[in-house]
This record gives sequence, C-alpha cells and structure tokens, in this order.
Amino acid sequence: MVEKVKILKVRCPRCGTRGGWEGNPNRPFCSEKCRLIDLGRWAEEDYRIPGERVEPEEPGSGE
Ligand SMILES: [Zn+2]
Repeated sequence: MVEKVKILKVRCPRCGTRGGWEGNPNRPFCSEKCRLIDLGRWAEEDYRIPGERVEPEEPGSGE
C-alpha cells in the first residue's frame, strides 16, 4: 500500500495538536497563535510559568 502523502501531518510543537495542515503558513505550528507563542517563548525564555496549561486547539479553527 503506497502512501501518497499530500497532506503532511505535523505535530504542533507548542500544543501538540496533530493534523494535516497543507498550505498552513504556520507549520509546523497549528496556528499563528502557537507560532507566535513559541517565538515569544524563546525570546523571553520564561515559558516555565507554574500552573500554565497548554490548551489543545483544533486545526483549521481559523483563529
Ligand atoms: Zn498549536
């Protein structure tokens, strides 16, 4: 069985959401939000906020 992978399944390194995000400019992140959060994380290096929880988002939810 040959898999013609058109839809690249990527796991968002921020929230862990998996899905096919073909054409998603924010890959490998599920959304721009996660992308910006991750960028900010590295920029501020204070992502270790006690009690902070990452909410899983559904891919393709728009915003
Ligand atoms: Zn995400």
